[in-house]
Amino acid sequence: MKKIEKRELNVYSNVIRQFNKAADLMKLDSDIRKILAKTNNEIVVNFPVKMDDGRIEMFTGYRVQHNNALGPYKGGLRYHPAVYIDEVRALATWMTWKSAIMNIPFGGAKGGIQFDPTKCSFNELQRITRRFTFALGNNIGPEYDIPAPDVNTNAQIMAWILDTYLSTQPPHERQRCSHVVTGKPIEAGGSLGRDKATGQGVVFTTEQWAKDKGFDLNGATYTVQGFGNVGSWAAHLLKQHGAQLIAVEDVTGAIANLKGIDPDELIKYVEKTGGVKGFPGSKQIDHMTLFKTKADIFIPAALENQITVETAPLLDVKVIAEGANGPTDPDGDEILQKRGIDVIPDILCNAGGVIVSYFEWLQNKRSEFWELNEVDKKLYRLIINGYERVCDTAKKFKCDWRTAAYIVALKRLEHVYKERGIFP
Ligand code: GLU
Repeated sequence: MKKIEKRELNVYSNVIRQFNKAADLMKLDSDIRKILAKTNNEIVVNFPVKMDDGRIEMFTGYRVQHNNALGPYKGGLRYHPAVYIDEVRALATWMTWKSAIMNIPFGGAKGGIQFDPTKCSFNELQRITRRFTFALGNNIGPEYDIPAPDVNTNAQIMAWILDTYLSTQPPHERQRCSHVVTGKPIEAGGSLGRDKATGQGVVFTTEQWAKDKGFDLNGATYTVQGFGNVGSWAAHLLKQHGAQLIAVEDVTGAIANLKGIDPDELIKYVEKTGGVKGFPGSKQIDHMTLFKTKADIFIPAALENQITVETAPLLDVKVIAEGANGPTDPDGDEILQKRGIDVIPDILCNAGGVIVSYFEWLQNKRSEFWELNEVDKKLYRLIINGYERVCDTAKKFKCDWRTAAYIVALKRLEHVYKERGIFP
């Protein structure tokens, strides 16, 4: 509970601190700075759902639309007890920067429902999702605001959103609306490679970091926090480079084995048991020991505010590849910088998800179906181009990579506002 309260206090102020630092350094136009420091729309819906035992429960859902100057609002939906308005604001804002860095034609949004999905049945989850989609109504739409998976949401949930949205549209509109949501199951219009996309992007950017530093991933060690979609895919793909996973933490606890944990065996174990705790051959460690574990790479792939004044001094790694959104707070960042630990920032490192969401959206609009190697090749090109833009900007402004990533995004947004002007 303590952790949740702490996150509530500062997650949006983290974004504003990061934003101000970059805006000062690049001398962002003061009018455009005012616009980007605010979210465009904030939708809060309270809706009733009938639970399996016949009881009615009220749920609170959010959709925050930060900015759409570069394209339709885009971003995931999160189901978690700690979802609250400031967190959704922060996550929506990060989405705007992410798409702007990657040069994809999307704005930024995020949403979620404040509840614990692990305490609900499959059918309850379905009714909650459908009722939330219905409550959002035309606040989402294929050319307006396009949700996707995030923490505790998956392809099945996207399929329910699709079905509910289409069911509320006039029959002759339905076939051309399948891009109202991305991260769908393949049969329902999803893209090959979307499932692994965020983890794949984490690995592509880590590979590039290794190449630039002359560092060999073969034999390198890594630790992972969070073993959901992002953490497990990143671990699976890093194994193929010959890197060795030595410690993992998820909601059930933390485990370590300095001789190596096989990510593929761990994935099977987690599917069966629901968490990493008790994985055969590993020993149980505590939260702080995970941070102290000496490794080459640390991949935070869970929630915000994990790398802070308390934990940043403990880390004994060469690079942090941020699979999660906002895992490092600004004080933690300063410590990492002083200690010479490289950070591949979230809005660059985890952009693989939204990039392949863009490919899914394009395939739906064009009635096309792309091969996996085509998706992977295109993802590689886009994310590495983004990586190079950030790298060059960091050199030019002599700043850290997070600030450089912000500058890349803010410059693009500044241009579009200058070209279009402000109505009226
Ligand atoms: N939830 C993911 C993110 O934070 C993906 C968003 C999307 O695909 O729209 O980037």
